[in-house]
Amino acid sequence: MVVDQQRKFSSQSGRALTPPSYSASKNSLGPASRSSEPFGKFPSPVMSDHSEELPDEQLKNADPHLIELVTNEIINQGPPVDWSDIAGLEMAKAAIKEEVLWPILRPDVFTGLSALPKSLLFFGPRGTGKTLLGRCIASQLGATFCRISGSALISKWLGEGDKILHASFLVARCRQPSVIFISEVDLLLFSEVSEEPSPVSRIKTELLMQLDTSVTSAEDQLVIICTTSKPEEMDEAGRRYFMKRLLIPLPDGSARHQMVIHLLSQHNYCLSDKEIALTVQRTEGFSGLDMTHLCQEAVLGPLHAMQSTDLSAIMPNQLRPVTYQDFDSALCKIQPSVSQKELDVYVEWNKMFGCSQ
Ligand code: ADP
Repeated sequence: MVVDQQRKFSSQSGRALTPPSYSASKNSLGPASRSSEPFGKFPSPVMSDHSEELPDEQLKNADPHLIELVTNEIINQGPPVDWSDIAGLEMAKAAIKEEVLWPILRPDVFTGLSALPKSLLFFGPRGTGKTLLGRCIASQLGATFCRISGSALISKWLGEGDKILHASFLVARCRQPSVIFISEVDLLLFSEVSEEPSPVSRIKTELLMQLDTSVTSAEDQLVIICTTSKPEEMDEAGRRYFMKRLLIPLPDGSARHQMVIHLLSQHNYCLSDKEIALTVQRTEGFSGLDMTHLCQEAVLGPLHAMQSTDLSAIMPNQLRPVTYQDFDSALCKIQPSVSQKELDVYVEWNKMFGCSQ
């Protein structure tokens, strides 16, 4: 069957329609991310104006410049993310729902647990959906999302990194429930070679202290999610603070299929089922981000084909549909970004320290 999908734009309003989700979100937990319903102990902060809620007593001793920086650069509400916005990763999603979200959202039912897994480590190749999962967890909990880049702490903000981290946790606690999301955590929780205290080791000390406090505090409505694509570079001290360590792998064939369909759905395309299946087969080893780049390159094919035309005057309906040939050309340019050697490291690390089967 040939799929000749027309551009999904409303002819009346001229607005793009929302692209279809990866799956029907029957499994949504708690407050559906697009709903504003408060849920149990985790009332949605999305609807409230936090600027008036910050308890002054808790922040009065903090440096106002740091609080402003955190508010402007770390607090990152963004659009809500639903489970159905994430292709594949079924095992990770199930583990998060069962072991992290349900116990937090339904403490009345999950009474037997001694400690909630409030500190998570997502490890695996770059561009596989770790950030999407973090945002989704925040959306499901109706929580403030604080996004901290490990590399920004040690480069852009070096010298102030530990203070920024401290201020981020302070603001997150004031705005709880909160999800603190720290990417490239291996840069912070590395094995120390020198005894000398350095700005980076101060950041590490601060992070370990915050992890310790949050994990042991029964009152904090804080989930800390750290991510790394180099788990083998983390030392044991850092590793053991994470109550759940989940491998977030490359997308399998079914997830890549969903991604191609999803990414093409916003464009006019003409690919048979067989051609889509062939594209999926040829993208073995691609990350989710690689798939996005591939589709972005392929959908430029019809524009490249209009070389002699004045592109500024072109109308969308003058462009031919995206075809398999466009994917064929794009596959010459876009290669998988993750090597087999890296993948082997994740498998080994998962066997030793991971919590996935
Ligand atoms: P990571 O945090 O693992 O480096 P991200 O979550 O930031 O990766 O993903 C980068 C981009 O790649 C996303 O914005 C999305 O476009 C795409 N992507 C990656 N994985 C997935 C996935 N499982 N489902 C849908 N899109 C994905």
